[in-house]
Amino acid sequence: MARYIESVCKLCRREGMKLFFKSERCYTDKCAFERRSYAPGQHGQGRTKASEYALQLREKQKIKRIYGLMESQFRLTFKAAERAKGITGENLVTFLERRLDNVVYRTGIAGCRSEARLMVTHGFIRVNGKKVDIPSYRIKASDVIEVAQKGLKDQRIIENLKAVDRRGVPEWISLDKTTMKGVAARLPRREDVTVPMTEQYVVELYSK
Ligand code: SF4
Repeated sequence: MARYIESVCKLCRREGMKLFFKSERCYTDKCAFERRSYAPGQHGQGRTKASEYALQLREKQKIKRIYGLMESQFRLTFKAAERAKGITGENLVTFLERRLDNVVYRTGIAGCRSEARLMVTHGFIRVNGKKVDIPSYRIKASDVIEVAQKGLKDQRIIENLKAVDRRGVPEWISLDKTTMKGVAARLPRREDVTVPMTEQYVVELYSK
C-alpha cells in the first residue's frame, strides 16, 4: 500500500491548520505550523485566488489527511456514506469518526492517529473483549474499547492517557483512565466533530 513518507508538518502548513500528527510536539513551540503558518514551497507565501474546484480538492485532501487515509480508502468510505440513510456529507464525517484508529486516538490511548493505527494493527486494542486489528473497523454504540493485557504497563500509553485532558475526550465517549477503557456511549453526531471541515465540498467534488 502506498504511504506518505515526507514531513507530515508540511501537510499542516499546506492545509493551513494544525492537524496534530505528532502528539506531544504539536502542543509545544517546536510545532512547525506555529513557526511558519504559510504553505510550504517557493510560492507558499504568495496570494492566489482559488477556483471552486481547487477549494473542493483542498478540502477533500484535508479531511483525508486528518484521518490518515489514502485516496482509495477515502473513496470507499465515501461510497458507504452515499449508500447509508441520511445526508452523505454528515455520514462521511461520522463514519470517519467511528473508525477504530480514530476512536483509540480520541480516547487518549494514542497520542495521534498514526500511533493509534499501529496500536490497532499490532494487537494492542480490544473491542468488546476481542482483539480487533483492523484500523477501519467501525465502532458501534455501546462498544467497549480497551487496551489488551500486553499494553497495560506500556509507558507510552500511560503517558498518553495522562495528557489527554489537554485536548479532551469527546462527549460520545466515556473514558475510564484507570482501566484504560473507553465506551462509545452513543454514536458520534456531526456536531461532535469540531475540527473545521466542509464535507459538502467533498460531496460536490465526487459528484462531478
Ligand atoms: Fe502539525 Fe505542528 Fe503537529 Fe507538525 S507539530 S504535525 S505542524 S501540529
